[in-house]
Amino acid sequence: MSQRWIRIVKTPVGLVGLSLLSLIVLLAVFAPILWGDKASVVDTENLLAGPSAQHWFGTDNLGRDLFFRVLVATRLSLTLTLVATALGTVIGLVLGTAPELLGGRLGRLVTALVNVFVAFPGLLLVLVFAVIFGVGARGAVLAIGLAVAPGLARLCQTLVAGVTGLEYVAAARITGVNRFRIMARHVLPNVAEPLIVNVTITAGAILLSFAGLSFLGLGVQAPEYDWGRLMQDGLSGIFVHPLAALGPGIMVVLAGLAFNLTGEAIAGVFGISTPTGTGTLRVPTDETPVTDIPHDHAADGDLVLDVRDLSVTFPGANGPVRPVRGVSFGIAAGEAVGVVGESGSGKSLTALSIAGLVEEPASIDARHLTFCGTDLLEEPASGQTRDTLLGTSLAVVFQDPMTSFNPTMRIGAQLAEVGRHHQGLDRKKASARAVDRLRAVRVRDPERRARQYPFEFSGGMRQRAMIGMGLMGSPRLIIADEPTTALDVTVQSQVLALLQDVRREEGAALLLISHDVSVVADVCDRVLVMYAGRIVEDLPTADLRTRARHPYTRALVAAVPAMTTDIDTPLATIPGHPVEPAQVPVGCAYAARCPLATVRCREQDPTLTAGPGGSRVACWHADEPADVVTAEEALA
Ligand code: SF4
Repeated sequence: MSQRWIRIVKTPVGLVGLSLLSLIVLLAVFAPILWGDKASVVDTENLLAGPSAQHWFGTDNLGRDLFFRVLVATRLSLTLTLVATALGTVIGLVLGTAPELLGGRLGRLVTALVNVFVAFPGLLLVLVFAVIFGVGARGAVLAIGLAVAPGLARLCQTLVAGVTGLEYVAAARITGVNRFRIMARHVLPNVAEPLIVNVTITAGAILLSFAGLSFLGLGVQAPEYDWGRLMQDGLSGIFVHPLAALGPGIMVVLAGLAFNLTGEAIAGVFGISTPTGTGTLRVPTDETPVTDIPHDHAADGDLVLDVRDLSVTFPGANGPVRPVRGVSFGIAAGEAVGVVGESGSGKSLTALSIAGLVEEPASIDARHLTFCGTDLLEEPASGQTRDTLLGTSLAVVFQDPMTSFNPTMRIGAQLAEVGRHHQGLDRKKASARAVDRLRAVRVRDPERRARQYPFEFSGGMRQRAMIGMGLMGSPRLIIADEPTTALDVTVQSQVLALLQDVRREEGAALLLISHDVSVVADVCDRVLVMYAGRIVEDLPTADLRTRARHPYTRALVAAVPAMTTDIDTPLATIPGHPVEPAQVPVGCAYAARCPLATVRCREQDPTLTAGPGGSRVACWHADEPADVVTAEEALA
């Protein structure tokens, strides 16, 4: 981090900007001490004199030396700029973080208010506030500080929204860290750099605004003087003694340049860019909720997780969109269940909603949702809270090891946070536990590794550390969401083997989400196949390759190449595209891609029905080979 700041000084723009800024700061500190008296001396014999060897910029209407006055005015100009910048930044930060901290309607109201103020021209806001707060330095500070706040708040909201979607923030939420602490420890440190850049550039604009207000007579009032005030005083004689107005004007330009060049140099070195937003959801064509039959688990009493009729709904521009539609399943203690399906099938969203990581405006509905016997839809009346339960008994391993950890915190500190928060461990014991957990997930030299930052870990090591974080408590369930997708094949198998070991040693159940059927087949006891937000088949892994009954499951299995696959044979693919959550058709969602689709399939959505051995399938023609369906049915 410090090397990047050194690189700023090494860039020509950074060097010039910081040198100018340093010079101006030195002037602000020392000019009033060194030349304060000379700037105040009244010389009635040299009123409004032009530039000379004695008075480089000439004198004002009381014969005071303008050159020294310009130098002395640096302190007030810079002080006002910094105070207004600080005021605008604090208000901007408060308004920028409020939507995330408040959430819900209040948060959206703050966002709307900020958007309204951002729509006003900045100059207009300054003038309006200047009139409200009155002329003078204090009124000008309030006016300018308030006027720049909405722009900074908007930027802060965008940056915060970009970071709160990252996985290490989700991980902190699971561990039960409250919103304020998440904001302070995980979000703000990671948006600080772009904010600093923009605040620096904004300071340049604020300096100009002060000069403008004083120039208009709305800012600093006599006998105080800043550069703007001196410019106004010199304006009347600009054609006779131009330096009287140009002198302070040059200082304004130099100071503005110093702030802007410094900001640009910082931005260049840190490579700062503005995050983009997410897409808009649309209304589904079929609004009818689809409900799976409850799972038929033999030992419901042993269930770690029991999910019935789980739906996730997002508001869309034209109405609600439901990417998860009535999902039901259970996971027994120690069981490994895989969830497969293409992108957009709802598998990750199902897992995230169980972990409580789907936030407003999404709404989660379920007829029944219990974890370790605790109803996750309601806060327990007493004892262990929902957050503590999730923080100690649920471990989540995310897909991207790059975003699973807060880049500004050491790995050990991030693991220790769980111990301190949920187990009441003091700092020393929590750190020792973190080292122990890193050792448990086979991280070599865990004491040293715990002191390192995430960027010093390889991808596989980060996934191990993420699993280690889950082991800070006593996990009854590990949710692994595409944990090996971002890893190379060798590391993939190591991470999968580690998950298996942890499962065995801790007796934890596993919910493994993957688009890779072969990964799930290797690790899991049972597979849930999801399509268009529903479970379309639930079967033992042993039956996956040979006894799958749903055409989509068979197609997924057929698309996996085997070691014996002829390299000259084109790989099997599933024709067409997955269904958009906003465009779920009437009837079976898979009908447009299914070789067995009939009239009935296009008109009626098949329910998930129980089959042999606790399996379930949602298909009107389960078990039928393609050629059994009559041509008449298929073409109708
Ligand atoms: S219900 Fe019909 S369209 Fe849907 S998967 Fe079964 S056969 Fe195919």
